[in-house]
Amino acid sequence: MKDDKLQIAIETLKKSGVRITPQRHAVLECLLTSKTHPTADEIYKSLKDKFPNMSVATVYNNLRILKDLGLVRELTYGDDSSRFDSNMREHYHIICEDCGKIVDFHYPTLDEIESLAQKVSGFEISHHRMELYGKCEECATAKEKVTQ
Ligand code: ZN
Ligand code: MN
Repeated sequence: MKDDKLQIAIETLKKSGVRITPQRHAVLECLLTSKTHPTADEIYKSLKDKFPNMSVATVYNNLRILKDLGLVRELTYGDDSSRFDSNMREHYHIICEDCGKIVDFHYPTLDEIESLAQKVSGFEISHHRMELYGKCEECATAKEKVTQ
């Protein structure tokens, strides 16, 4: 299934005339297999052993191309560390307050909240975002160890 997603993404790149460099392939693969919504820096760190000559700028450049083609979306949280998500289906997120990792939370889309908001505000609602916050299992365990 992951391979399917990768193949579809590669086809999209080819159709758009984007050259599939080994780095671009690796960035895409990294995003498609990650479950934690990595930052550009995290992607860079995970690939730098394989591509010692690759710069952070290359990672950013690749992420921008993938984003422009609608293959990934950028999640901004008001600071400078955007995270990247290759799951383009509607879904919500659960965020660890300690390490910042983000995991997907699949829950029926709250369409009714949009129609209600539209009704009470007169706004034309385009979309909504929902985040749940807490501590991931790893961070909760790490804390336990420290206090023991
Ligand atoms: Zn955590
Ligand atoms: Mn996600």
